[in-house]
Amino acid sequence: MINIVLFGKPGAGKGTQAEFLKEKYNLTHLSTGDIFRFNIKNDTDLGKLAKTYMDKGDLVPDEVTIQMLQSEVDKNPHSAGFLFDGFPRTLAQAEALDKFLESKDQNITATVALEADDNILVARLLERGKTSGRPDDQDEEKIRNRYDEYNQKTAPLMDYYKAQGKFHSVNGIGTILEVNERLNQIFDKL
Ligand code: AMP
Repeated sequence: MINIVLFGKPGAGKGTQAEFLKEKYNLTHLSTGDIFRFNIKNDTDLGKLAKTYMDKGDLVPDEVTIQMLQSEVDKNPHSAGFLFDGFPRTLAQAEALDKFLESKDQNITATVALEADDNILVARLLERGKTSGRPDDQDEEKIRNRYDEYNQKTAPLMDYYKAQGKFHSVNGIGTILEVNERLNQIFDKL
């Protein structure tokens, strides 16, 4: 069983690459952003709460996010492994994930960060915002706030996983296939 965390700033291509990786390695793909958006679309209580944070580009509180993630994992008891996309994003989330997996006699196999320059990513996101319908992709101020959240709260997680010897980094600039090939090289050795 392999459990992977896919890191990367907004727009780095996590979702696109996750689609390839989940097929190739038979993983259950859990994107917390997608799950929140599904709840917003269906107007659930969770969706209403998450929207107030997401619309500003702020992170949704840890307690809510961790609980949601755990219940999604529990919905897939026969999974051959998970691809966590957009989770964890804070130290509290990373620690909760480790504890939760440990309680199931599992652990994180590896984490991979898709690296790219902020200015390239902002341009990519504004372009995506024209068609994605995502309010958080349409306003440069909100986008910059998401990068601030990333730099303050998520970037420190790299050290957390480095200390565990589980951190890998990949250049996220290139064609989808080029980036995919770089990721495969790491995955094939796990
Ligand atoms: P994403 O689709 O991963 O870019 O996530 C979109 C938004 O969902 C983020 O800007 C946050 O508001 C929220 N979100 C997604 N994942 C998390 C998480 N692990 N912790 C807190 N907020 C999250």
